[in-house]
Amino acid sequence: MKDSFVHKGKRKILVEYLREKIGILDENVLQAINEVPRHLFIQSIFEEFAYEDRAFPIAAQQTISHPSTVAEQTEILELKKDEKVLEIGTGCGYQTMVLMKMNALVHTIERQKDLFDYAKNKFRELNCRPKFQSFGDGFAGLPTFAPFDKILVTCGAENLPQELLHQLKIGGKMVIPLGKTDEQILYRFTKISENEIQKEEFGIYKFVPMLGDTKI
Ligand code: SAH
Repeated sequence: MKDSFVHKGKRKILVEYLREKIGILDENVLQAINEVPRHLFIQSIFEEFAYEDRAFPIAAQQTISHPSTVAEQTEILELKKDEKVLEIGTGCGYQTMVLMKMNALVHTIERQKDLFDYAKNKFRELNCRPKFQSFGDGFAGLPTFAPFDKILVTCGAENLPQELLHQLKIGGKMVIPLGKTDEQILYRFTKISENEIQKEEFGIYKFVPMLGDTKI
């Protein structure tokens, strides 16, 4: 599959939809979505729908998030150039690539080996690699690379993972969906000081669950 003028045209329409209908204001987020060829991250049978606001199945019973969810999560993260970010749940690598296009220093963790390998190949193919890609359990974070300016969790956890909070800088922000498996509330936690956390809510979503211990 190539990135053709048709794909680029569909991406522009998607970006306008995200701006007008979803209300995404951060031009850097919209620009990154405009640059990432989403159709190259999904199975070819879904190619013609790649720029619709839909989620699709990827390997290991996981899903690529809706473009609107990726855009909203990224906007809420308030990501700035050169910030050190940790993503939990690489999946097929689409969201990772959006973060990379925003010139963040991206570290990403995936617990499913199939998806870890898939994303690794994808990054190689598109010649755009994260700072660090890890196969492991996101609950543990990446202590050797901590602290992070931002942490983005792309799967739903029942409770706030304390270890991730530890790995956030003072002033850092973590965006994470929390709740039971059927639906979650998207939160942004800002670490005001070692003992003070500000919590903001951003509505109801449905993410795949954040699962414990790594399956190899
Ligand atoms: N950002 C991805 C979304 C993938 S869905 C994309 O753009 O495609 C969420 C991902 O989180 C899945 O790939 C799932 O395997 C992964 N995941 C679930 N629990 C995890 C954990 N404990 N640690 C790391 N990744 C996890």
